Amino acid sequence: MKRLAFVFAAASAAIACALMTFAQPALAQKPGIERMYVLYCGDIALDDASSFTPGASGPGRLTVTCYLIKHARGWVLFDTGIGDHIVDMPNGQKSRAGVWTLRKTLTSQLAELGLKPADINYVALSHSHGDHVGNLNLFMQSTLVVQKAEYEWKPPVGVSPFKPGMKAITPEGDHDLFGDGSVVLIATYGHSPGHQNLLVRLPKTGAVMMTGDSVHTKANWDGGRAPERNFNVPQSLAALERMKQVLKEANAQLWIGHETSEVPLRRYSPAHYE
Ligand SMILES: [Zn+2]
Repeated sequence: MKRLAFVFAAASAAIACALMTFAQPALAQKPGIERMYVLYCGDIALDDASSFTPGASGPGRLTVTCYLIKHARGWVLFDTGIGDHIVDMPNGQKSRAGVWTLRKTLTSQLAELGLKPADINYVALSHSHGDHVGNLNLFMQSTLVVQKAEYEWKPPVGVSPFKPGMKAITPEGDHDLFGDGSVVLIATYGHSPGHQNLLVRLPKTGAVMMTGDSVHTKANWDGGRAPERNFNVPQSLAALERMKQVLKEANAQLWIGHETSEVPLRRYSPAHYE
């Protein structure tokens, strides 16, 4: 009987120990993020800058930025930019959002780092608009990371860029991709039904939040404004408030992916941030 009690006690202790290990907060692990590359993913010429920046006038420009993250558990690409084929179109491609041009392909920037599209494990998308999913077809072997609301959205014009054959993680809200707090999708719905930002915590640079189109320009951020063309303007404004809160809590910088005045401030690939 005594022996049985001992066995029982030992088993209970083992279970308790296992539970404690399981309950360890994920952030106690050493984060696996190693570095991040900023990739040039196109340019957009606007006839009317006010279409994205309420209050602006005259023509305008937006830059297009993608980000590549090296994590111990794989490569993560955030957005895929405008399509690589546009590099061959000297006058660019007209779209609902201005004229798109491309000086350097995403594929060539990956190749400079010794990577092929098939090496990218995860493609996280801020949202499904053309200047963010232009090269998605190169990454059919990657796992998509897209908010469920975006993944299931049927756009009124055009078709959903998401192909049924792709592996996909479709969170409903914030999502810590590797469970170590270093690569976190932040739900910022409004510009589109399931828009998301990306928050990374880099070992030396610290925390940085990438906007996607939750905010297009610094003027919109400073003025707390959202373009009328957004899917849901009140939700877009609430997303700006949420972003302020996350920036404060994470002590993060905000990088606005379409803001041309930020281009000279960034080190582009093959340089990187640690
Ligand atoms: Zn965009």
